[in-house]
Amino acid sequence: MIEPVDSLEITVVVDNVTDSLSSTPKLVETEFAGAWRRGMKWLGGKCLCCAAHGLSCLITVRTGGASHSLLFDTGPDEWVFERNVVRLSLDLGQVGAMMLSHGHWDHAGAMPRALQLITLTNGGKSVPTYMHPDMFSPRAIVPPDGRLMPMEDIPSEQVLAGNGAQLVITRDEQSVLSGSFYISGEIARVTPFERGLPGQHRLNEDGKWELDELLMDERFVAVHIANKGLFVFTACSHAGLINVLTHGKQSLPRHTDLWRARWFSPGWPNRNHHTRYHRSAGQIQSGGDRRRALHRLEGDRRAGDAIWKSSCAFSGWKTFPAVKCTFRRNQLRTLPG
Ligand SMILES: [Zn+2]
Ligand SMILES: [Zn+2]
Repeated sequence: MIEPVDSLEITVVVDNVTDSLSSTPKLVETEFAGAWRRGMKWLGGKCLCCAAHGLSCLITVRTGGASHSLLFDTGPDEWVFERNVVRLSLDLGQVGAMMLSHGHWDHAGAMPRALQLITLTNGGKSVPTYMHPDMFSPRAIVPPDGRLMPMEDIPSEQVLAGNGAQLVITRDEQSVLSGSFYISGEIARVTPFERGLPGQHRLNEDGKWELDELLMDERFVAVHIANKGLFVFTACSHAGLINVLTHGKQSLPRHTDLWRARWFSPGWPNRNHHTRYHRSAGQIQSGGDRRRALHRLEGDRRAGDAIWKSSCAFSGWKTFPAVKCTFRRNQLRTLPG
């Protein structure tokens, strides 16, 4: 289904938080180190990226002399996206495809500007852009106090196509960029405790708001590094981490012993969902191989601790905005923590 690659490089373009003080393993280039390599002469705010609620990652794989790049979400806002792209000196002309993980504004807000920046630097070629048909319904959150809080719509098909997207709107799994990336189909929901986004509604065709908590438009991306296993990109993972990894195991049975799967999800774990993630940690603990895996989970120490203690079969990876991580086939299987 997908081709193994030699290396995987993840550049976090936009993330919820910024952190230039925590220590990082060698395979991570911090924001300061990257800025220095690109010519920064003194530390100063004008050289630095901005954090914003949401996510955008530029994912590049290399095999032999060939490389492919996929833009996974764009964050909430065009200004933040463009500011960070400039600060990171990213060559968006290399982006061969774009994908939206699910239909939420904090991942989709900068898609039109991203398409403009890509097509300005790739000679005007249209950009295969992978979407799910249910993403385009207007959405709202109804918190426990009963207010209906509408969300900003994601950019329409017309806006995306008008800015250079070659839309692929489907519920089905896809193998893209010469088979080096896997984009899942709809993620089967098999656990009782992963229930999506409580209180989410969508506007149906009759103009009425209806419950839409499962977010069936969410999909994940996977990359297979040779001799290392699958890396799974789950974004906010409203589908639930266990559902995502279970679906990955069933969809790509020939590609991995799933104990080697690593998830990469800057938005995870989320402070608002302690219970769910603690249960997820328990589920991981009870599942199969107990090989020690290392975790780097920031943002929610308690959930991170629970998973750390589980000696689980999976490892998580959490990093900060505006950093670059490179994983290679010849690195040790166990990632540094
Ligand atoms: Zn979301
Ligand atoms: Zn989100």
